[in-house]
Amino acid sequence: MAYYVGVDLGATNVRAVVADEDGTVLSSRSDQTPRGPTGIAITEAILRIVREACSGADVEPQDAVAAGVASIGPLDLAEGAVENPANLPDTIDRIPLTGPLSVLLDTDRVYLHNDTNAGVIGERFHSERNPDDMVYVTISSGVGAGVCVDGNVLSGWDGNAGEVGHMTLDPQGELTCGCGHDGHWEAYCSGNNIPRYARFLYEEDGSVDTVLPMEDPDFSAVDIFEHAEDDEFARHVVDQVGHWNAMGIANIVHAYAPLTIYVGGAVALNNPDLILEPIRERMDEMVMVNVPQIELTTLGDEVVVQGALASALTGGTGDRSRL
Ligand SMILES: [Zn+2]
Repeated sequence: MAYYVGVDLGATNVRAVVADEDGTVLSSRSDQTPRGPTGIAITEAILRIVREACSGADVEPQDAVAAGVASIGPLDLAEGAVENPANLPDTIDRIPLTGPLSVLLDTDRVYLHNDTNAGVIGERFHSERNPDDMVYVTISSGVGAGVCVDGNVLSGWDGNAGEVGHMTLDPQGELTCGCGHDGHWEAYCSGNNIPRYARFLYEEDGSVDTVLPMEDPDFSAVDIFEHAEDDEFARHVVDQVGHWNAMGIANIVHAYAPLTIYVGGAVALNNPDLILEPIRERMDEMVMVNVPQIELTTLGDEVVVQGALASALTGGTGDRSRL
């Protein structure tokens, strides 16, 4: 029997799954991502969790044929590592991934992807339709995309293709993105930035009447979505967020001509209608080519680890015909 490993390295959690050759998950383990002191501590945590997942499936690590790794970025694909991750402490400069996993699993077949590319690989593997032209978009603590065109998952030379959250949408650059640049999609629409954007709109207007706790330090996107039906200002914020999302998605449609766009990430998964409907409503007026289907991911918050596993099963592609 051949075994396959999928690893999802997020800023908050590390997860590993072990599956058989049909992709049936036999064992899954996860733990919090260490906050340092160095990148090596994170590598060691990943190796430990992979060992635990193997042990849970009653297999030896070296029985694994291949592994897929989905990771936060930015990646150094040639080195098989994460380089200066944006959402972890500054002391973490480099997290070696493919080398140490190759040694542990005794295989050269370790495929590294950024997490949104893993997302599209997972969708492609599990999709019944249109597996060769699709996009996976995550709207979560960040915004990003994995893109598959003509059956090729685009990674770029360094593995960082699809950073669409850092496309400039607002030419005025009113809000500054976590990356330090102004006017990026993510600066308006990520989970952490939606309340920042709401505060900007609130202060800009100066006379807003709202039940939202604008002065509360714990004010969050959850408050806004909760009151989208009963508070005019909350509805306005959701509508504006929908407008930026639609602009971002329309740019993706014009660039890549997908047949389907799957949307995932916590913000979309927790508020599917409030996120997806404003995008769908605007597509006809914003898009001058064929409008794709826009769907919530069918894989929920498993999409990234499932993509890592699908990559291991299909030689890094998600193409089921390569099973
Ligand atoms: Zn940015």
